[in-house]
Order: sequence, then C-alpha cells, then structure tokens
Amino acid sequence: MDQQITGITTECPECAGEVPFDRPPLAGQVIPCPGCAAELEVVGLNPIRVDLAPEVEEDWGE
Ligand SMILES: [Zn+2]
Repeated sequence: MDQQITGITTECPECAGEVPFDRPPLAGQVIPCPGCAAELEVVGLNPIRVDLAPEVEEDWGE
C-alpha cells in the first residue's frame, strides 16, 4: 500500500468547504466545520464522508 496520510480532508455538505482532519477520523465522530461551524458527523471512512449531525433538540416535555 502506498497510502499518503498527509492532509486528510473531506468536503462539508453544508458549505462545500474543505474540512481538514488532524488524524484519521473515527466513524460517528462529530467535528465542527471550520468554514460554516456546522456540526459534521463522520459517516464513512473509505473514502471519508461526513454528513450534517442531527441537531440535538432537548425536549423536556414542556
Ligand atoms: Zn461547512
């Protein structure tokens, strides 16, 4: 294998900007987009894909 692990990036589905990773991400990891601050969840690793993380709405039944 001749894998280059320098500069791992993927594309933000929200702003189409480049989202860099310091290290290979884990599935389910949530990272903020540096471009639009959207919360992105890692949904695929090979290739790396991210999707908008569902916004957690706290519903306390009120
Ligand atoms: Zn973005």
